[in-house]
Amino acid sequence: MLSEFELIRRYFTHPARNARLGVGDDAALVRVRRGMELAVSTDMLVAGRHFFAAADPEKLGHKALAVNLSDMAAMGATPRWATLSLALPAIDPAWLDAFARGFMRLARRHGVDLVGGDTTRGPLNICVQIMGEVPAGQALTRARARAGDDIWVSGQLGDAALALAALKKRIRLKPREAAAAARRLHAPAARIALGTALRKIAHSAIDISDGLVADLGHICECSGVAAVIEYEQLPVSPVLRRYLDRPAARRALLAGGDDYELCFTAARTRRNRVERAGLRAGVKVARIGRIIAPPAGAWGVVVTDRDGMPLKPGRTGFDHFG
Ligand code: ADP
Ligand code: MG
Repeated sequence: MLSEFELIRRYFTHPARNARLGVGDDAALVRVRRGMELAVSTDMLVAGRHFFAAADPEKLGHKALAVNLSDMAAMGATPRWATLSLALPAIDPAWLDAFARGFMRLARRHGVDLVGGDTTRGPLNICVQIMGEVPAGQALTRARARAGDDIWVSGQLGDAALALAALKKRIRLKPREAAAAARRLHAPAARIALGTALRKIAHSAIDISDGLVADLGHICECSGVAAVIEYEQLPVSPVLRRYLDRPAARRALLAGGDDYELCFTAARTRRNRVERAGLRAGVKVARIGRIIAPPAGAWGVVVTDRDGMPLKPGRTGFDHFG
């Protein structure tokens, strides 16, 4: 049986490139570069709530880090360091090996050092803290959207939630379609390159973890504005488009969130610069609506059809969400 210390040494001790001191002491030592601010965020994944306990551990390792990287992307920060706190029901070397592989492969790809964590016995629970750097004053917050801004999203929306709906048997997809959608659910790509490219261009940003309408709603609330989304402009995959007449698919598009794409706002005068930032980052960006002054102080998100009329809840598949 592996001891806790052997476990940490075997699976979670890797040379730190960005840190003065990594795993193995009472604390890690890192240094933020001159002119940079430290961006810090944590996301916890709980078995049975955020993933199935029997989930593929390699994909889980990837996802646990990816959802945290996504928060860095949404701040325009460059991720540099992470800590990993694990509660494990048992010490299962095959599980740990695969989990660490998924986690570390993504960490290496983004130049992130795993600098510490905690390991304990308990119901399966994965908590990652991510730390990154952003030039002072340039972080993309939720609070600076302005009336007149365009609203943009990266990539395509809804596939991950569509895959989840298929797993829960709320919608039936063909096996090939389900597999394509499931890739987005299990291996979200954090939009780091886009987030950093949008510094000094975007006014506000958020990563879509709870669904487009809900997350854009956070920008509206924090900025004291309202938003109009044009349903027809939402970027969707061929698979999702094929099922758009189904409420579960429309709900995935507006209220699904597991794609971890970015939603951001920028002045109309910045359209070319946003397009170029997308090209530089290798990510499609789509303009989906605009920020408006809140009518009678009611910040919120309205989804409209081609003619600019608000969509009825039935048309959006959105009626099951409050
Ligand atoms: P302490 O007694 O100070 O809490 P631990 O024995 O929990 O120390 O951890 C020893 C070292 O291993 C520390 O540097 C800690 O940050 C690191 N560590 C523990 N668990 C993990 C993990 N799952 N991933 C990465 N580092 C870890
Ligand atoms: Mg400890």
